Amino acid sequence: MTNFKMIEAPKDAHLREHDCKICGHERLRKPVWLQSVEDGVHFPAGARCAAIALQLVPATAKQKEAEKALKPVAERIAAEARAAAYEEHKREAAAWEAFLLASAGPGSMQDQFERLGGFSAARAAYRAANETKEA
Ligand SMILES: [Zn+2]
Repeated sequence: MTNFKMIEAPKDAHLREHDCKICGHERLRKPVWLQSVEDGVHFPAGARCAAIALQLVPATAKQKEAEKALKPVAERIAAEARAAAYEEHKREAAAWEAFLLASAGPGSMQDQFERLGGFSAARAAYRAANETKEA
């Protein structure tokens, strides 16, 4: 039972260089992001350290073996992230349509925008409504 899982790189990860938090290797070419299952803390690691921590390869594994073992995991995570982004997009589109219907009444989106004072005004009202909900 491994205590880590691989996750997508944080959105701002490319803005700076990362060192492997397991062995200290500096300026990783392609950092792998691991997350502790226990406390949710995430950190970058080199491919070899990551594959070993994930128990995908034995501690004696070479870099190439580690990269090969990580590849399908990285692909699965990327696919899951795409699916989640698509769901989020669908959810957002449905919320936007529901907002237009509730605040401008039925009709084409063009008509609804006009009733709300134009697209920008409609978006501003939508954002304001969401902020109120979240507050
Ligand atoms: Zn390392």
